[in-house]
Amino acid sequence: MGCERKLSVASLKKSLDERFWEKVVKTEGGCWNWTASTRHKGYGAFVYEKNGVVVQGRAHRYSWELHCGDIPDGMFVLHRCDNPACVNPEHLFLGTNQDNVNDMMRKGRHGAGGSKCGSNGKWKRGKDHWNCRIPDDTDVLIKNDRSLGMSYGLLSKKYGVAISHVYKICTGKIRKEVGNGV
Ligand SMILES: [Zn+2]
Repeated sequence: MGCERKLSVASLKKSLDERFWEKVVKTEGGCWNWTASTRHKGYGAFVYEKNGVVVQGRAHRYSWELHCGDIPDGMFVLHRCDNPACVNPEHLFLGTNQDNVNDMMRKGRHGAGGSKCGSNGKWKRGKDHWNCRIPDDTDVLIKNDRSLGMSYGLLSKKYGVAISHVYKICTGKIRKEVGNGV
């Protein structure tokens, strides 16, 4: 009986990286989108083994461990981009639960969650709270949203950047000039 269990864990482990990468699509905007099933609030779902225990985990947490090492107890892996399905370690950072809450408030993702948040008017998704973002990431975020189909007009409103500027960022005619050093 013990044997059977070992075997299934071993086979799970063997193809783990393979199973991970075949579900990841790297977008031009920089996000690595999880294409398999997602769970609560759009986070990628990934079953993996850690220290001999099978974890019903989240894809972005697995990605963090794969690229950056263990996640300290009680720490959360948070997204710099507003894309819960993204597993690009460069878009992830470690934070406490309080950071997580602050981050969600800033992104207007608390409570109802997702794009519905903006419509109740309590937390605007306009440039007022987008100003809180890390400026260096703006062009990455804009490209990412563009790759997900957002129009230049909407991007302009969302990030408080002129449409012509958004266009330049998306077409690669401008790089890293947005908000650097602010
Ligand atoms: Zn991302």
